[in-house]
Amino acid sequence: MGPQTTDVSATAKPTTEELRQTVRDLCKGFGDEYWRESDQQRSYPQEFVNTLTNSGLLAALIPTEYGGLGYGLTEASIIMEEINRSGGHSAACHAQMYTMGALLRHGSEAQKDAYLPEIAAGRLRLQAFSITEDKAGSDTTSIETAAVRDGDDFVITGHKSWTSRIDESDLAFVLARTSPKGAERTRGLTLFLVDLRQVRAQQPETLNVVKVRTMFNYATNQVHYHGMRVPASAVIGQVDNGFRYVLDGWNAERILLASEAVGDGYWFTQRATDWANSREVFGRKIGSNQGVQFPIVDAYMKIRAADMMRFEAARLFDAGEPCGAEANMAKHLSSEASWDAANAALNTYGGYGFVDQYDIERKFRETRMYQVAPVNNNMIKAFIGTKVLGLPRSY
Ligand SMILES: Cc1cc2nc3c(=O)[nH]c(=O)nc-3n(C[C@H](O)[C@H](O)[C@H](O)COP(=O)(O)OP(=O)(O)OC[C@H]3O[C@@H](n4cnc5c(N)ncnc54)[C@H](O)[C@@H]3O)c2cc1C
Repeated sequence: MGPQTTDVSATAKPTTEELRQTVRDLCKGFGDEYWRESDQQRSYPQEFVNTLTNSGLLAALIPTEYGGLGYGLTEASIIMEEINRSGGHSAACHAQMYTMGALLRHGSEAQKDAYLPEIAAGRLRLQAFSITEDKAGSDTTSIETAAVRDGDDFVITGHKSWTSRIDESDLAFVLARTSPKGAERTRGLTLFLVDLRQVRAQQPETLNVVKVRTMFNYATNQVHYHGMRVPASAVIGQVDNGFRYVLDGWNAERILLASEAVGDGYWFTQRATDWANSREVFGRKIGSNQGVQFPIVDAYMKIRAADMMRFEAARLFDAGEPCGAEANMAKHLSSEASWDAANAALNTYGGYGFVDQYDIERKFRETRMYQVAPVNNNMIKAFIGTKVLGLPRSY
């Protein structure tokens, strides 16, 4: 169990350095051993998430009138970065931040009044985002999970190949098809905010969750919806327009994940530097060999550059300006940079890098995901090629 932390909800907006220090102090209660054990057992780091929730930090993006901190994405990204930079893993809770935009920007007043104060107070968890399907993969507009209107309800039937943290969540966003795919490929999908408590209590047979063990600690699942009935009041925004709301949230998601990768990158370069400064072979510090030193330096410079792109993307997002290019580039650059840093650290540690007690191999597995999910770097290159540079679309 972590230490008691300051409840930041009552305080004014902190400076960047104060915010960083608050998160660092909180993370001190959850050191390497805590994350190592949870990784080895593939157990959800509930104590950490509880502490973050109780501190108010997980409600950073919720406006103050609903009981949140009313911070921008820049501050939220700093929180995510510092968790990873401390050696932790933000993936346990980041969805509560990156899905928030769909509810804030497109939810009805009734939905916001019902859910936001409860989420801000830590009594409701919104951690699940159920979109990807086996056949559609990266081509989200081809999903087939169907939601059919039946009186005051919609009935959802289908299979999602990935839905993380659904067992650790009270609410889930579910994207389903409400009209056939037509010429306008982004229409015909509807986003639902499903109250899982109601489903679990009244129709548990309609929700089948199958845990998926992955190469790192990630509470992810396959989910089957067997005629799950949700009220029409669960629809976010307009029917058939859900993909637009998902797209809208993707920039926030990319920026937050970029920040996590940046945090990992700083963690790897710090650990590698400390090791290179202390380990002696051939009668000298291994860091004095440029073959050891330069890869750490290369990785550090790439992390710094990605970090700047992250802050530029977050600045544009907070100013309400278009930031698709910067958000995508930040995610791409930071995931590549953290992977370079991971390899530099592994090489610097030599054989010890493979031993779990040093945590390099754990973070190595964790940081690899940022190149693949929530969107693969290939898709980012395709986005930059076609949407930013105006090259032909091949898919
Ligand atoms: C640990 C984990 C947790 C996840 N959690 C969730 C979750 O909570 N909710 C959710 O909805 N999803 C989740 N996902 C799914 C994730 O978003 C998808 O893995 C991702 O969208 C890619 O889909 P895919 O795996 O089917 O890859 P595919 O679409 O099959 O792609 C495979 C490869 O082909 C490449 N490729 C495909 N088409 C093109 C093209 N046109 N041009 C160039 N390259 C191409 C891809 O870039 C990739 O390298 C999770 C994934 C992981 C690994």
